[in-house]
Amino acid sequence: MNEFALGLGRYPAYVYDLPGLEAHVRGIRAALPGTEVFYAVKANPDTEILRTLAPHVDGMEVSSGGELAHVREILPGKPVAFGGPGKTAGELALSRTLKPDRIHVESPRELARLAELGPADVLLRANLQVNVPNAALTMSGPFGMDEDTLAHCARLLARYPSLTLRGVHAHLASGLDAPAMLDLAHRIAEWAIPWLRSQGVDDPELNVGGGMAVDYAAPEARFDWHTYGTGLSEIPARVRIEPGRAMTAYHGWYVTDVLDVKTTRGETFAILRGGTHHLRTPVTKGHDQPFKVLTANGPERPATLVGQLCTPKDVFARDVLVPPLAPGDVIAFTMAGAYAWNISHHDFLMHPKPAFHYRR
Ligand SMILES: *Cc1c(COP(=O)(O)O)cnc(C)c1O
Repeated sequence: MNEFALGLGRYPAYVYDLPGLEAHVRGIRAALPGTEVFYAVKANPDTEILRTLAPHVDGMEVSSGGELAHVREILPGKPVAFGGPGKTAGELALSRTLKPDRIHVESPRELARLAELGPADVLLRANLQVNVPNAALTMSGPFGMDEDTLAHCARLLARYPSLTLRGVHAHLASGLDAPAMLDLAHRIAEWAIPWLRSQGVDDPELNVGGGMAVDYAAPEARFDWHTYGTGLSEIPARVRIEPGRAMTAYHGWYVTDVLDVKTTRGETFAILRGGTHHLRTPVTKGHDQPFKVLTANGPERPATLVGQLCTPKDVFARDVLVPPLAPGDVIAFTMAGAYAWNISHHDFLMHPKPAFHYRR
């Protein structure tokens, strides 16, 4: 990757390591026998990434009509689960033509609207009250439905012959390690399987969501897929997961070069071409984006790596150790393959967009 990144010529650029990504997803697949793996497209919907992942996952999870149309266009025939809060009438109508294999229903109103459109296989999204210590994000609030509302949906479903209840969807937290994720999955199953059976579902499906931990402070660490897969295989249902970040984060780089270096009141800043309008991840997550300096050598000193935006928030990494930097030195921010380019505010300040390169 280093040589590939140095040969690009023009910065900033995103580089995706497709063979690395393929090996990673093969490993995940092998660690999860008996569990269906859907990729959460919102983590990174890049076409080449989707094509690389597709042969090794059971399907794609999409969270909008836009993602649904995108996946159907580039991967026709690949199973798709369509979720997300606030689906519009237009998005629900699109599901009539693009026929997602499963629809994750977020509310009784959505269920009623869907029933009018014709046949669909649905999972009800559950917002169960489980205590999740150490989670980076918990998905309570507007997502899914509590037990009473789910019971209401079950009564409605009895009146909607067009809809087939297949199971429960529960994406309750993110940033958990494998034992914590497993505990969560078992608690979902303990409630959902008997509940689904009581609703007459013979072959219950359980989508236990994504959210597998990715530690930006430990770029070499990986979620323990093996422990997770082994534990999931004990759940007596058709279990599906939908990871995003832990699939694609590790195989994207944002590569750029140094424009200026200066010291202000004792603090050294390296100003890099581009900025967090291309790589928003460190700002949203509040971390130092891991990086490699590809060109400079020498004794390391603290510096703050910033971009070209006119805001003090445009920081990639604060007070990190770097070798002596000069204009033209090349830096690669790693772990930029998920929630990076596609969550960034590209047009802020109207700087040129990065180029995109694929190592094949
Ligand atoms: C975002 C999301 C995911 C993927 O989460 P990651 O943290 O990227 O693994 C999965 N399911 C749902 C419903 C989501 O909203």
